Amino acid sequence: MSASSEPSYAASPFDHVKADVILRSSDDVEFRIFKLFLTLASPFFETLFDLPQPSEEMITDVEFKDGLPIVPVSEDSKALDPLLRFCYPCTLSEDPAIEDFRDVINVLEAAKKYSLDAIERTVCKSLFNPKILEANSLRCFAIACRARMQDECVLAAKYTLREPLVPMWFEEIELITSSELLSLLAYHKKCGEAIQELKDEYSWIAAEYPNWNAAPWMVALNSSGSYCGCARSTSQRVMLSGFTSAQWWEVFMDSAFLDLRDKPCAETIRQHAEKAIQTVRQRGCGYCSPVVPGAMLAFATFFSNKVEELIATVELDLKF
Ligand SMILES: [Zn+2]
Repeated sequence: MSASSEPSYAASPFDHVKADVILRSSDDVEFRIFKLFLTLASPFFETLFDLPQPSEEMITDVEFKDGLPIVPVSEDSKALDPLLRFCYPCTLSEDPAIEDFRDVINVLEAAKKYSLDAIERTVCKSLFNPKILEANSLRCFAIACRARMQDECVLAAKYTLREPLVPMWFEEIELITSSELLSLLAYHKKCGEAIQELKDEYSWIAAEYPNWNAAPWMVALNSSGSYCGCARSTSQRVMLSGFTSAQWWEVFMDSAFLDLRDKPCAETIRQHAEKAIQTVRQRGCGYCSPVVPGAMLAFATFFSNKVEELIATVELDLKF
């Protein structure tokens, strides 16, 4: 039972003289802790500490130090420290900020193992929030897969639609299996395809903008119904109350749909809408320049909602 090297000691508050048990991490760091806090946080520890506790007089293989039993655990000190901090009341220790994605994985795995449900939820909440998901969707997906968290996988997969269908290498890619990656790619592709039904016919637009004065700018008219001077499409693919759409608007729709196949998300629409607004501003049409920015943002929101509705019907084929 003797450790090959001298143990080191965890920092406050895990060095308390009145602690009643010692947890020893896999890298030989001793955490002097109060059983009560762990018992309250986890049924696993409750059961463990409820067992008849050995005393130093009994002949067991339990190691003692300063009269306290030492419980070896398989986590290293880097994973154990935040886990215990989550268990302790906030008056003794604040919840740790887990910034490194690797640490998150270790803490989640340990939290699962020790049935620390509340901690699992807290860690998830800190990781799977829009701000982090927007910037790290693939890494979050990998972590959710690794921790076998179904809901978080689905959530992260949705955010990965902001990335190209074939993503760049990302740091946690080796944490996911090839079948998990395949599920993600298939989901992404299906989302891109599902949206194309909006491209094939524009009745969804006619339903929202039933006549020309609902969106005169879309058909190169001003509010009194006179031609505003902006070029109209020559393809006549989109008609609104008998008028052909403005050319810049058709270019916007075509380029947005092309890009949506690769990145089927609201962000793609927003970017193309911004570009269209710039185009209109540069043309300097007296009617469109001041009207189109607001009108296009409203249209982009409407368009995005339709896209979201279709994406919501696509399932990620991944079950744990
Ligand atoms: Zn115009």
